[in-house]
Amino acid sequence: MTERLVVSEPYYFTEPMSHCGYCKGKKPKRQNNFSLQSWYNYHSDKHDNDNTANCTMGVQVELMSVEMYDKLCNMGFRRSGRFLYKPDLLRNCCRLYTIRTTAEKVHISKDIKSCVKRFKKAVTAQQTTKGRGTPYNYMKEIVEAENDSQVFHTRFEPAFFSEEKYKLFAKYQERVHDDHDHSPKSFKRFLCDSPFSPDVQKGTKQEWDQLNGWKNSTTEYFKRLGPAHECYFYEDKLIALAVIDILPSGISSVYFIWDPDYHKWSLGKLSALRELTICSKINRKFYYMGYYMDDCPKMNYKGHYGGELMDICNFKFAPLEFLQQYIEDGNFFVLSDESDLNDEPDLNDRLTKHPTTWQELEKLHNVAENIYGFNGKAFSTADKAADRLSQQEIPYRKDAVRDICHQNTNKKDIYRIPNVAPGLLPLHEIADLVSEGKFDLLNNRLLLFDTTDGRIRPMARFTDESPQIKKAICNLVRLFGLQNTRDALLII
Ligand SMILES: [Zn+2]
Repeated sequence: MTERLVVSEPYYFTEPMSHCGYCKGKKPKRQNNFSLQSWYNYHSDKHDNDNTANCTMGVQVELMSVEMYDKLCNMGFRRSGRFLYKPDLLRNCCRLYTIRTTAEKVHISKDIKSCVKRFKKAVTAQQTTKGRGTPYNYMKEIVEAENDSQVFHTRFEPAFFSEEKYKLFAKYQERVHDDHDHSPKSFKRFLCDSPFSPDVQKGTKQEWDQLNGWKNSTTEYFKRLGPAHECYFYEDKLIALAVIDILPSGISSVYFIWDPDYHKWSLGKLSALRELTICSKINRKFYYMGYYMDDCPKMNYKGHYGGELMDICNFKFAPLEFLQQYIEDGNFFVLSDESDLNDEPDLNDRLTKHPTTWQELEKLHNVAENIYGFNGKAFSTADKAADRLSQQEIPYRKDAVRDICHQNTNKKDIYRIPNVAPGLLPLHEIADLVSEGKFDLLNNRLLLFDTTDGRIRPMARFTDESPQIKKAICNLVRLFGLQNTRDALLII
């Protein structure tokens, strides 16, 4: 199924740190809000109270294929309903790194064993089978517990709204997050809506039946791709709900809500172990846990499952264990085997392939300061690229203030993406692609939906478009790369 990617023009917005869902602007050390030491030093030397902000870029997605979302997940994007976003890791108050793991990489800790043991006892009244020389296997324990249970079961179904699900959500938000500002509409927008086609959302009976047989199936290939709700029932009462996306390369966990009356079951932890087990059983390689943040106690538990983090500027993963030295205190990393690298790496060609993993870790250096620090080279390079683009009538301009605080506070222009934004195609690469005529790849393929006249038309020749439209297209390519943009429909 190849649905066209239908997206809005990319935008960029800044909110005060206090609106950040992770740190709420309350980190104990101000330094941890800053991605790099040099930027913190600059602001502490000035004795100002300037702070970083919550900085996000993204697009509204009207339609997307599951395969495309798989690619974008690996590029650091996440979806919330139909909104596809990624944080600006340079300016954001929190470093949110894409984390993924596999069922085999999980470190079996005491904590994991006791979580599975408690669950087994609660649903079967049985003790864990004493391993007669066989190594402990959490996946086997979970499957056995569920097969033996008369009181607990789960069911996969389309991610559709129900009153029962909403009631559970309301209870969870109120008691776990002290959030009383919810409604059926907000629940639906956040945990039911998705940018996938109606057919993909609904799935087929055969897909759901096959998926629901995951525990004891010998099937090699499970057909289901797309969003799903996994409902957890205890004595036929809904006690938890997992919202996931089943992708070709893995399962992406979107959100998990549970009944606070069952807090003793550690359902949050259990759900991760169950989803890893399901990944393994349905032959999907990776378990995408969303974002990892090292200095957030609510988030760094994700590291207990032995993951790897995305090096967003290189489109390469590296083990969390290895990266720990670079990311503590909210720091930003970019890896390179050249210690003096100070240019943003080109991304366009890499994004046409699958992400790779960094090898020969002992030879790598963190070059984030060289590139993005106070004296980093990326800023002057991007300013030159902005000049080059404006000479070609694509209206980029130099960033007026070179500072990671106070960026883009001009709310009037939400379409203005900073010239330097890690993980997007560097502006110099965009300028090169334009001057080499590579944007012609989009000719007669990319569709434009002009909301002023309500017409949809193919982009015949990139060079013939108006300056504003050319810039909107360049911004889309900065986010996704040329190949992923080629068959898109851009709403402008
Ligand atoms: Zn934050």
